Amino acid sequence: MKINSAEFIISNSDVKKCPNEPLPEYAFIGRSNVGKSSLINMLTNHKNLAKTSGKPGKTQLINHFKINQNWYLVDLPGYGYARVSKKTKEVFQKFITDYFETREQLVCAFILIDIRLEAQKIDLEFINYLGEAQVPFCIVFTKADKIGKVQAQKNIAAYKKKVLANGWEEMPQHFVTSSLESTGRDELLNFIGDINDQ
Ligand code: GDP
Repeated sequence: MKINSAEFIISNSDVKKCPNEPLPEYAFIGRSNVGKSSLINMLTNHKNLAKTSGKPGKTQLINHFKINQNWYLVDLPGYGYARVSKKTKEVFQKFITDYFETREQLVCAFILIDIRLEAQKIDLEFINYLGEAQVPFCIVFTKADKIGKVQAQKNIAAYKKKVLANGWEEMPQHFVTSSLESTGRDELLNFIGDINDQ
């Protein structure tokens, strides 16, 4: 899929106020600092569509970006940032779960995982939550340029083991990306484009 246009539409903390057009939505979520803003900018060919923040935990809203006038890319708040107070955390967790449990336009969620790290408890819990909520999702490994290809495959195999040990029958569909080198861009955009064309 070619990106012809990408525009910011609205930010909010209430799912009911999200755009009510019947366009398919693809949501991006992950731990703070996982590289979500960089990935969104890389996918949309924008230097600054999503804010690449020095301060983790800064983007705590649901952000809707309209792509090619026919689908929405949804940038969800990062989770698991310790310095956000417990109360704030609860608030965004509630609206995140509201989003996943009520948003009819949602087609697929992309859960971002730093390819360098061992499987983190909070990510595994989130993956399980998505499974229980029956939300279709894929895993997107980020920052692949930081390790070699062989190490990347090893880390993915280790991740798969953890996911299977966590009760899954198979590893969810996954992508390997680097925002620095645009790795995985075509694969991700074609995946979305193919679903939209169905
Ligand atoms: P967010 O908090 O998930 O939105 O993460 P950001 O996109 O702000 O990225 C967090 C940090 O990781 C920044 O310093 C980025 O420059 C860096 N980063 C993000 N993606 C990549 C990548 O693909 N490769 C490398 N080498 N660094 C990355």
